Amino acid sequence: MDRVTLADDLRKTVGDKTAKVLKSKWDMETVGDLLRHYPRRYVRHGELTDLASLAEGEDVTVVGRVVESRQRKITKRPYLLLEVTVEDATGRRIGLTFFGTGVHKAGADLQPDVLAMIAGRVGLFRNKVQLNHPDYEVIPGRATAETVEEYAAKPIPLYPATKDLPSWKVKKAVEYALGPGLDLPDPMPSELLARRGLVSLSAAIEGIHRPKDDDELKAARKRLKWDEAFYVQLALALRRAAAADLPATPRPDRAGGLRAAFDAALPFTLTEGQVQVGEEIAADLAREHPMHRLLQGDVGAGKTVIALRAMLQVVDGGGQAALLAPTEVLAQQHFRSIQALLGPLGRAGQIDGAEGATRVALLTGSQGAKVKRAALLEAASGGAGIVVGTHALIQEHVQFADLGLIVVDEQHRFGVEQRDALREKVAGGRPHVLVMTATPIPRTVAMTVFGDLDTSVLAQLPAGRSPIATHVVPPEKPAFLARAWDRIREEAGQGRQAYIVCPRIGEEDAPSREEGEAQQPGERPPLAVMELLPMLEGELLRGLRIDVLHGRMHPDDKEAAMRRFSSGETDVLLATTVIEVGVDVPNATLMMIMDADRFGVSQLHQLRGRVGRGGLPGLCLLVTDTPPDAPARRRLDAVASTTDGFELSRLDLEQRKEGDILGAAQSGNRSALRLLTLQFDEKVITAARKEAARVVAEDPGLAAHPELSAALAELLTDERADYLDKT
Ligand code: ADP
Ligand code: MG
Repeated sequence: MDRVTLADDLRKTVGDKTAKVLKSKWDMETVGDLLRHYPRRYVRHGELTDLASLAEGEDVTVVGRVVESRQRKITKRPYLLLEVTVEDATGRRIGLTFFGTGVHKAGADLQPDVLAMIAGRVGLFRNKVQLNHPDYEVIPGRATAETVEEYAAKPIPLYPATKDLPSWKVKKAVEYALGPGLDLPDPMPSELLARRGLVSLSAAIEGIHRPKDDDELKAARKRLKWDEAFYVQLALALRRAAAADLPATPRPDRAGGLRAAFDAALPFTLTEGQVQVGEEIAADLAREHPMHRLLQGDVGAGKTVIALRAMLQVVDGGGQAALLAPTEVLAQQHFRSIQALLGPLGRAGQIDGAEGATRVALLTGSQGAKVKRAALLEAASGGAGIVVGTHALIQEHVQFADLGLIVVDEQHRFGVEQRDALREKVAGGRPHVLVMTATPIPRTVAMTVFGDLDTSVLAQLPAGRSPIATHVVPPEKPAFLARAWDRIREEAGQGRQAYIVCPRIGEEDAPSREEGEAQQPGERPPLAVMELLPMLEGELLRGLRIDVLHGRMHPDDKEAAMRRFSSGETDVLLATTVIEVGVDVPNATLMMIMDADRFGVSQLHQLRGRVGRGGLPGLCLLVTDTPPDAPARRRLDAVASTTDGFELSRLDLEQRKEGDILGAAQSGNRSALRLLTLQFDEKVITAARKEAARVVAEDPGLAAHPELSAALAELLTDERADYLDKT
């Protein structure tokens, strides 16, 4: 038999019928695809449990024969219940129960006399031990001495399977594909493998599918995990190296310029962190290669001031800076706050403009033609040193006289294409780029998703910032909710303001889902702004001045609502998550979030960052009707228990899995990460980053590593490209 290669067509290797299922279910076409379909778990000999000694809560695996299988309806419920009795080699018996959707398949599979391996957790029901919804694998054929031995001797892979292709058939297909043994070329440099104690690629793929023992399995996983981490880091290292090679106009800090004047006029002292990050950025801007930096800082940490000082340094160096915001509301807000912070320094040409002043322009999609034309002219002529805008800034007809710096606020909403589109507005070089995010990013995510950026972290909040107290308002304590409305009235009575946030706009919108929170069948749709408004006006907050803000409003109306709230004309802003980022009204002291369980941890943290900004203590109320022991409640309790954004982001990462962070790249069979997890593999990722940097430093074009280069190119053709483009 010829050895297989990874590129071989599966139809030739495993037959048309199996190949068809593999293709339709997992989009597999080649042997390589199949061999990347790793077992989801293994069962080991030692795990085979003696039925004599079952304890509740224990995870057990048994091999046994089905002696009875009974299906019945549960009274007064639309459920079927399947009860299966299994007998092990010693004649001891245990019951298995299946209900709901799992019944039919298990009922068909687990017929009397079928031999099966069963794995599950021991539960107690009416004083009898049983396994609820266990995993099982039907052992084909009769229980010969051979099958029994095979199933007892080594780790047995259990594959992700379907009805048409149960685990043992997948295993058989994999066996065909592996053939008598693999002999794959290994792109990883051998000295690297030796240094890291990694086995060859062939050994790893063999070892993950048919390990002789646990050590072999461990070695296989270690190597395959390494590959997942390493190729991503290699791509990022190449990207960093390429970017570092590009020319950029240096904009060193200039004494006596706008930045110096701004610093002198600043009404507060910069925090230590702001000073330090400011120095890092100032040094970056002075280089002949483009800055490419990510600035992380919790909400209210003072990123805008840092960005503004960087922008002024560039203006001092004869260039312009563009500030890109994800929404119109935010662009307008930035525009206003930058104008306010600059004062006369931003009013060149006006009577009260300072000497050497610049101008700030605003460019958004919804502006009228005349206003827009004026802004375009300001950008093109260089009259505006700072141009603030939304996506409108990236459009083709927008020209800059000399764009030196792009600041992107709230990075996660912009794709790499958009950043690239802006960069292309710079002839003969690249602008410096500063990306700001208020979403605390765990180290591992920073190293992968944002791995081509240098990172600065603003860890500390400016002094005098009041802590935000957060409380859950739960269904079992209705008095809390009544008290919450009172609190809003009290705040308003003292001239302060409140936000009330709902997960949904309402009226004609379909119940929208937020942050990947799937709506359970039978669950009511989340509360909508337009449903709550009449209740607030009619009874709950009668007499208070209430305004609405949501994404479907006309931009002029949004801006007007924001302006009224900023100036204190309204007491309560009833909104969707449009206020999630950046909105800054120091007089707002209370944030009430309705159906808070419908939001993700990070989102709640972002939302509450809108209050407690003006030296007045902030209060955040998380209103929910989930019961005390529900997972959603534990999430809310966590948010209430700490204001440490990094702590919460770790929690969020654990709960959401990478899928939501990395987006589509993570779903589907060809996803980039199979074994590597961002929450547990920080060590591997760190090591891979180091090794990748080393390879690229020695060999920036990968000229001496053609196999690595080819392997990378192949990976980059599929979703891995998306995955990296999340930067
Ligand atoms: P971020 O963008 O990081 O959420 P901002 O830059 O909007 O935070 O700052 C929040 C508020 O704190 C603004 O009103 C800003 O003027 C103010 N601020 C920034 N730095 C300081 C500081 N060092 N001391 C006092 N107030 C500050
Ligand atoms: Mg901000």
